[in-house]
Amino acid sequence: MVYPQSPPVTQTPAQSEDLVTLTSFVPGPEQSAQRQLFGLDTPALIKLFGELGEKPYRGKQLAEALYRQRVTHLDEITTLPKALRDKLAAAGWEVGRPRIAESFKSIDGTERYLVQGVGPIGSTQTVETVWMPEGDDGAEYSSDLSDSEDEGLAEGRSAPTPGGWKRATICVSSQIGCAVNCQFCLTAKLGMQRNLTPGEIAGQVVAVLERHKVELNKSRVNLVFMGMGEPFLNYDNFMSAVRILMDEVGIAAPRMTVSTSGIVPGILRFAEEKVRPKLAISLNAPNDAVRESIMPINRKWNIAAVLDAVRTIPFKTRERVTFEYVMLGGVTDQPEHAEEVIKLVRRANLPAMINLIAWNPGPGIAYNSPSADSVSRFQKQLMAAGIQTYIRRPRGRDIYAACGQLKRTTEATPLAS
Ligand code: SAH
Ligand code: SF4
Repeated sequence: MVYPQSPPVTQTPAQSEDLVTLTSFVPGPEQSAQRQLFGLDTPALIKLFGELGEKPYRGKQLAEALYRQRVTHLDEITTLPKALRDKLAAAGWEVGRPRIAESFKSIDGTERYLVQGVGPIGSTQTVETVWMPEGDDGAEYSSDLSDSEDEGLAEGRSAPTPGGWKRATICVSSQIGCAVNCQFCLTAKLGMQRNLTPGEIAGQVVAVLERHKVELNKSRVNLVFMGMGEPFLNYDNFMSAVRILMDEVGIAAPRMTVSTSGIVPGILRFAEEKVRPKLAISLNAPNDAVRESIMPINRKWNIAAVLDAVRTIPFKTRERVTFEYVMLGGVTDQPEHAEEVIKLVRRANLPAMINLIAWNPGPGIAYNSPSADSVSRFQKQLMAAGIQTYIRRPRGRDIYAACGQLKRTTEATPLAS
């Protein structure tokens, strides 16, 4: 893989943080009294219809409409008789799928969306979801997907879509804001606002699939849970969303990757899951001292504790854990850091690969992006030691869509839709 065509950005953009307005969540009577169907799985929908005195197959039809036909209003569900739709509405039910409130398009084709929940806790807050056509950002995930389901969608078989892309990666958020407070990350600046519900997490994906008219049997779509928030601090909702995406929407688990900053109890639970996405760990530093200075969470769970937890995962044949490594100029990008990472990965004794991410700048964060040279030198050092190492190409930097830039920034030009 080649290093970014765009030169590394070494200066913090001039935009002011003040442009970002935050709406904190205050639950109140003004919020929708409606109940959301989106986010319920087939068994739950069957149960719901049972309570309404209806047959179980109605639940299946409703699930089909919500997750495959991607309806947004009860009226569109023509497989259900009008009387039944009215009955649902009278009982206070609505489709309740999150909607794309605003979108921004990058010169590289990446699109960033502000997605608005509609639930009782939806209020006016938005989360960010990113669409990366020809998702090189996820290439490191798809490149090793030659196994299982992906064989069926080899390049030759993926039909070009109306948008002209053959595969894409969707970057999904799991919380509004984040409590972990990594010093280099813009999302951290929001603080922790709230957890997203399963419907709000899965809804981001379905809303984006609908926007691009994606036919999942014809094109290759990968999901990365690497947007706003720490998925393992919202574990139950995150895994419920994964199950909806697998069982109802029809995206296979090996096409999904979840990234965690190293929440050990979450990793231990994840290890117990029978079907689960792939795992990425935000290592980000060559040792505990540096990691602690950029990721305060390291004081609670240090590198050894995280690695011990990862070792409890029963990895599948050819499956690997990804260590993400954010390269901060002068702080984590030096040759001696690479040497330490090599030792660390060898000692870890895990099926691992490394993903180098050149730090993306954001307002109010005083780090430097690494030079292109230091990134490629770092990669060479690791590769020479036999460690598979990819460089993640930054996507959508101009619209604040790149890793760690998600902060509901409404700068950049909205997409005409
Ligand atoms: N909260 C999870 C997932 C979201 S962050 C986690 O931290 O793993 C996804 C990745 O982006 C993480 O590896 C994180 O270290 C990285 N990241 C955060 N801010 C960044 C920035 N400004 N530039 C580059 N990568 C960043
Ligand atoms: Fe949260 Fe991940 Fe950002 Fe850290 S890097 S503050 S865990 S979103």
